[in-house]
Amino acid sequence: HEVLLEVKGLRKFFHTSRGTVKAVNEVSFTVSEGETLGLVGESGSGKSTVAYMVMGMYRPTAGEIIFEGKNIAIPHQKRPLSIKKNLQIVFQDPGSSLNPRRSIGQILELPLRIHLSVPPQKREEKLEELLSMVELPVDYLKKYPRALGGGERQMVAIARALSTNPRLVVLDEPTSALDVSIQAKIINTLMRIQKERKLGYLFITHDLSLMRNIAHRVAIMYLGRIVELAPAREFFEKPLHPYTQMLIAAVPVVSEEEERFKPEKVVSRGEIPSPINLPSGCVFHPRCISAEERCRVEEPPMVAIDENHLVRCHLYR
Ligand code: SF4
Ligand code: MG
Repeated sequence: HEVLLEVKGLRKFFHTSRGTVKAVNEVSFTVSEGETLGLVGESGSGKSTVAYMVMGMYRPTAGEIIFEGKNIAIPHQKRPLSIKKNLQIVFQDPGSSLNPRRSIGQILELPLRIHLSVPPQKREEKLEELLSMVELPVDYLKKYPRALGGGERQMVAIARALSTNPRLVVLDEPTSALDVSIQAKIINTLMRIQKERKLGYLFITHDLSLMRNIAHRVAIMYLGRIVELAPAREFFEKPLHPYTQMLIAAVPVVSEEEERFKPEKVVSRGEIPSPINLPSGCVFHPRCISAEERCRVEEPPMVAIDENHLVRCHLYR
């Protein structure tokens, strides 16, 4: 499968009066056609910052973002229309991402005009197609966002993102503001559409258990760095990094996706350190039960255990 997105050595440092915040540091990954890469982390891990750089909303401090073979580490406004068309995002909060003064029809029509130049007489048909793709009734075209429930608004945001026939969609916590019952429906819809269109998804989430059923590969972020990246099955069955092991041990073995995972509950060894004063050596060492002396001084490099499994920890050198 073709690699759609390749992120290499991505960094985002914010300089503040209290010091430099290394929000994202040396992050590298790929997303291929038809693939879901789960980028998982607690809040403050830098996962959304990665998403915003991929979308051109933040300028990277360093690194490359290669999409369909072109370096697109440039602001959103400067990106060619073809890149914007093929790379879309769905945000966490469907309420604030839809203009309340526009009807659903108007919201969905805008990208058709900009990106696809669909002639006016064909637009109605295309709009109805978009709504049925996300399983909403066609008379919703005349409604306004406030008349819809949270899950329905998110379906509209998904339809809008897909209206340009993108190849890759960044999903930034698309279901975490919604009820669990609605979550499942949205996830199922996203998965169905992915199969139909061979879409690549970069799925940003704090919910590791959600990834068990939908991600092809999982990357775990901790304080700005990816600490482990592996195919989902291997990731859940044979986690290598002590942080990943801690997170997975905390995921209840009960059935299904209903069981939500709250990282806060499993942190037995202290809180996440401030991203301004990062711990020396391995940033995870203050919380790591396997920490050795060198972990306090030496930062572990990313090591390939095999072709597909990467881990950043001294135990695996
Ligand atoms: Fe733990 Fe050391 Fe590995 Fe960091 S490098 S995760 S502190 S064992
Ligand atoms: Mg976020």
